[in-house]
Amino acid sequence: MSDILRRIDTNKVIDLTRELIRIPSENPPGNENEISEFIKEQLTKIGFSTKIHEFSKGRPSVIGIASNDNKSKSLIINGHTDTVPVGDDSLWRHEPYGATIEDGRIYGRGASDMKGGLAAMLVAAETLMEVGVDGRLVLEFVADEEVTGYGTKDLLDRGYKAEYAIIGEPTELKVQTAHKGVMNLKFMVKGRPAHASMPKTGVNAICKASRLCLTLQDVQTQFNNRRHPILGEPTLNVGVIRGGVKSNIVPDYCELIVERRLIPGETKAQVLYEVDGILDKLREGDPLFNVTYEVLHHAEPSETSPESSFVKVARECVKEVTGSDFGASGFPATCDMRFLVNQGNIPSIILGPGSLHQAHTSDEYVEIDQVVKAAQIYTLIALKLLT
Ligand SMILES: [Zn+2]
Repeated sequence: MSDILRRIDTNKVIDLTRELIRIPSENPPGNENEISEFIKEQLTKIGFSTKIHEFSKGRPSVIGIASNDNKSKSLIINGHTDTVPVGDDSLWRHEPYGATIEDGRIYGRGASDMKGGLAAMLVAAETLMEVGVDGRLVLEFVADEEVTGYGTKDLLDRGYKAEYAIIGEPTELKVQTAHKGVMNLKFMVKGRPAHASMPKTGVNAICKASRLCLTLQDVQTQFNNRRHPILGEPTLNVGVIRGGVKSNIVPDYCELIVERRLIPGETKAQVLYEVDGILDKLREGDPLFNVTYEVLHHAEPSETSPESSFVKVARECVKEVTGSDFGASGFPATCDMRFLVNQGNIPSIILGPGSLHQAHTSDEYVEIDQVVKAAQIYTLIALKLLT
């Protein structure tokens, strides 16, 4: 292992990860003030120039920039400072904000998602500063990834760009080049109320919604020919059905909430066109089928070519540190990569310590060894790309 990587001090990685976990930054409600101040201090201490930007009042993101005159080469490393809430703390065996160390792991809310990643970014930044950074390195510690993604979007709107970007979400140190998008749709089916003893005088909204439910389920089989090489098929799940008041009333309303996961190449317009087609067909066969829908939430998918030189460099660095080339894989959830790729046109990868299996769970932890290795990998990638 190169001398540079030996500079990365395991104790420093552990201390920083624990300090970051001990500062709650739950979202909702969304409070990244204290953690942003802490990160800004750390960045200033190691010689980065810093800025705080709020996308709305009280929602700060921190920027750290190290730059020399050679600005032609540039890299963003992006991580989010917010975490999901602790939830039911009786399900935690370890104190959620205690940052307890046990069996080579650090426990706490955000350990994997993604305070371990933030610690790795900070330690890599310090190491790079010591050995001298060529080009322009931009560290982004953004607010509000867990709910809206506005932190990252805001920094792009303000003009923060680079040739390449790494998102430090938990990937167990694998290079991930694509992630799915998501769309949540609410279908509202209307019927006509009637006394249950005379159901023919009414229109049963639950029964109409059931037909829609089964038709939507069938759509999944049409996805077989739409496989993405890394992410597989799109998916559709009817997750909620709500309707009816009493057994003696023919229900006049029933709603479904559906989650559709999109693969790169699929667009919102395309999904809505397909939905309209399904509803038109149901209406054709049944003049009493009365449905409207609305999009509750939409986040686009994105991808970077796994054949790109950036991905190759990242995989080489992972191999140099871990001894393994895991290839290029996919991130199962959505993340801020979509803004960097789709809005910023920045080839991006997701690569960080911890596991998505740990994210959002009770008793969340991160392996210390992975955080140390992530700091080494970020250092190596920055050195290779910026010099
Ligand atoms: Zn995350």
